[in-house]
Amino acid sequence: MVAGADGQALVALDRETQFHPFTAIADQQGNGALVMARASGSSITDVSGKTYLDGAAGLWCVNVGYGRAEISDAIHRQSLELPYFHSFNTVANEPSIRLSERLLKLAPDGMRRVFYGQSGSDANDTAVKMLWSYNMLRGKPEKRKIISRSYAYHGVTAAAGSLSGIPMVHQNFGLPLDFARHVSRPDFYRDAPARDCATEESYSAFLAQELEETILTEEADTVAGFIAEPVMGTGGVLPPPAGYFEAIAKVLDKHDVRLVADEVITGFGRVGAWFASELYGIEPDLIVTAKGLTSGYLPLSAVLVGERIWSVFEEASRDGRPFAHGFTYSGHPTCAAAALANLDILEREKLVERVAAMAPSFRSYFAETLLNLRLVGDVRSAGFMMGVELVADRATKAAFPASLKVAGRVALSARRRGVLVRALPNSDVIALSPPFVVTEAELSRLAETLRDAIDEVTADLVREEHL
Ligand code: PMP
Repeated sequence: MVAGADGQALVALDRETQFHPFTAIADQQGNGALVMARASGSSITDVSGKTYLDGAAGLWCVNVGYGRAEISDAIHRQSLELPYFHSFNTVANEPSIRLSERLLKLAPDGMRRVFYGQSGSDANDTAVKMLWSYNMLRGKPEKRKIISRSYAYHGVTAAAGSLSGIPMVHQNFGLPLDFARHVSRPDFYRDAPARDCATEESYSAFLAQELEETILTEEADTVAGFIAEPVMGTGGVLPPPAGYFEAIAKVLDKHDVRLVADEVITGFGRVGAWFASELYGIEPDLIVTAKGLTSGYLPLSAVLVGERIWSVFEEASRDGRPFAHGFTYSGHPTCAAAALANLDILEREKLVERVAAMAPSFRSYFAETLLNLRLVGDVRSAGFMMGVELVADRATKAAFPASLKVAGRVALSARRRGVLVRALPNSDVIALSPPFVVTEAELSRLAETLRDAIDEVTADLVREEHL
């Protein structure tokens, strides 16, 4: 344990040495990093000794909570026995084989094989290359474009970053690459009124029509896939409007376009089902997973490959050509052992069922606590994923100028009060995604602290004459 003066020394050393992801260098140099030291359950403690309730489960990933000796023991045992070996050229290891069997049993029907990587981003790049290869193998090399949605987050590598629809991920990188297209996000609260859609169903029909028009404009012979997070996460925590995936599926089938479900956040219980695809009746051709697969204890991603795509690869490989894609760490035995222990915990403690059972009261308690506040325009959720949208005017839904960083200020106030929540990058939405083991008392504290933080920022905005 490091504390006090040592903590300050670490902050100073961090300033001099580390290049942080998604961090303004001026902020790192000015405020300095929040250096974390240890964690247990839903709580995390920094090097100064201050403990926070982690309302975000890291980055939507520490689903079974911190300090699970069972996962650490599995990692320890496996790394003594066989810490690493690759999976190229028909080599395998027991943990990754056992994990594949288990994933195919848990997954929605129709999934045939599992392909491993290490992060959500690389898994989405793998999905893109699978779609490209699939179409080349079936004699449709022009069918390469992939349609995503504005404000989607699919990661940051060159292909996944192109599919992401968050402007910050594109700016200063010259992205997206030219295979990617974007249609509208499904934001019933903010976007449906502007489309004159009074019901979720009519909004879904509008979005499906927009998708079809895009496919026709691009020409269906050039469109390989459509990718969607079942519940959009970083783009605002947007559960799909009623009928959305049914309407989309009809369009995709009609134009021979494959569906990729990016379940990097939603997979393994976050929405109260093992996969959000089950919950929303989605029948994907590829399912992309990471985060909750190991609850973040070690990096691991898995792309589940459905029948339509697998059968083409299987057929094509008869002439001996390999799928020439994969990573040094594909099928990493120690990461797979961590995933198996994580799945054991989820199953034994019935944590997915727990999320499903607690979700209605989670939503109603937060709605009761927050919806009467002047700044809160919307509270929406799916399972243990919640978005609280802050607005300048609840009647018109007018947003605050981005320069005021209202959600960021609320998140900082909550942090001072000992609670971690995330301010999403492109709107004033606060995201909550607690570990599945969070207690009722911790959820109350989360809601009440968020209310106090919003009250503090509201008073500041009034004083600054922004309200
Ligand atoms: N897809 C989704 C839906 C995500 O939320 C994320 C990460 N937040 C990613 C992909 C990228 O995952 P990673 O950061 O592990 O590359």
